Amino acid sequence: MGFTVEQDCPQCGAPIELDETDRLLRCPYCNVKTFLFTPNYFRLVLPHKAQGKEIFYAPYLRFKGNVYYSKAMMVGHRVVDITHVGLPLKGIPVSLGLRPQTMKMKFVTPDTEGSFLKFSLKANDILARAGKLSSGIGSKQIFHRAYIGETLSLIYLPLFLEGDRLFDAILNRPLARFSQDQDVFRQSVNWNPRWKLNLLPTLCPQCGWDLEGERDSVVLTCRNCETAWEASNSRFVQVNFQKVLGKGENTVYLPFWKISAATAEGVKINSFADFIRLTNQPRVVEKEWEGQDMSFWSPAFKIRPKVYLNLSRQFTISQQNFRSEEAIPKKNLYPVTLPQTEAAQSMKITLASSALNKKMVLPNLSRIRFDIKNSTLVYLPFTDTGHEMVQQHLRISINKNTLEFGRQL
Ligand SMILES: [Zn+2]
Ligand SMILES: [Zn+2]
Repeated sequence: MGFTVEQDCPQCGAPIELDETDRLLRCPYCNVKTFLFTPNYFRLVLPHKAQGKEIFYAPYLRFKGNVYYSKAMMVGHRVVDITHVGLPLKGIPVSLGLRPQTMKMKFVTPDTEGSFLKFSLKANDILARAGKLSSGIGSKQIFHRAYIGETLSLIYLPLFLEGDRLFDAILNRPLARFSQDQDVFRQSVNWNPRWKLNLLPTLCPQCGWDLEGERDSVVLTCRNCETAWEASNSRFVQVNFQKVLGKGENTVYLPFWKISAATAEGVKINSFADFIRLTNQPRVVEKEWEGQDMSFWSPAFKIRPKVYLNLSRQFTISQQNFRSEEAIPKKNLYPVTLPQTEAAQSMKITLASSALNKKMVLPNLSRIRFDIKNSTLVYLPFTDTGHEMVQQHLRISINKNTLEFGRQL
């Protein structure tokens, strides 16, 4: 279950409840839509219950998503759902436990009173430890890990000092005796990160039309000038996209990221032919594949890790040249809920899971570096058969319950 966040409507001020993965805020009172954006972590506070005390906020890294790893001769995955303390402060809990589930959080604003202790541990180290624990194996055997997240944010736990004791300002209970060497506290006094949530009006930057999307969409579309947009550096920037025309009444368009890349280090993949040879596919390399860019495919929506791996591999190996056009499908558009930056994390894992000769490929993963040439959002036509969505060209199918379940991950 995700956490609940309360945010006031920037238009009419009404309080609106959001899920932590929601990006598009639609006010039920004045109907105005706003897109929530931050360049790095969303920052949230747990409300304190210690009136009149001087509050210190301790940061916790929140990650919810999947870790994919390749070890020995296989590719595996685990769900990771953590809130882990983000600084070396003695005596405070390592995890937030149930606190975020039982209360409504708010975004940090420049007016949030109190001092913020610095997030000083490395996010990668925390994730690596979480990934290690959850895969239950020593790190020596792991060649590569990819964290494909749905949520990465900082949650602040309110604390206060009384005498030489440190208190949890939610439960008003003592946590630990405060030792004198904890100068993280003194360094933080009067430090406010001045972090501010960016609230973008959902107007098409090109034509002024109202952009469309669902509450968990990370790409919004304009029906009027047929463009697609994602937030970057406090504004909307255009996303390259293509639509592959479908047939029939029951066509639903599912979004995929097609990321063209070549390796700069590790192994040689400059073309689709290189990929076929390296992964030892049982296909005869055709001449034109030598000059064809290698594209890694990934679902642009959240789905269970096992299905995500399968879809990425199947579309990547097929390397189908779909006939496409630059148009936004008029209806039955499935929302983009996985950003390109997350999809790009999956390239090595897709390579590993495609390899039939794992011994030749997996040990090289850590040395591989990709140069991304371009990324395109491709809407592929699927036929809704009632139980399944079947891709109209490749006959690859996705169970509809699995798709539905993915929205709630
Ligand atoms: Zn409103
Ligand atoms: Zn437009």
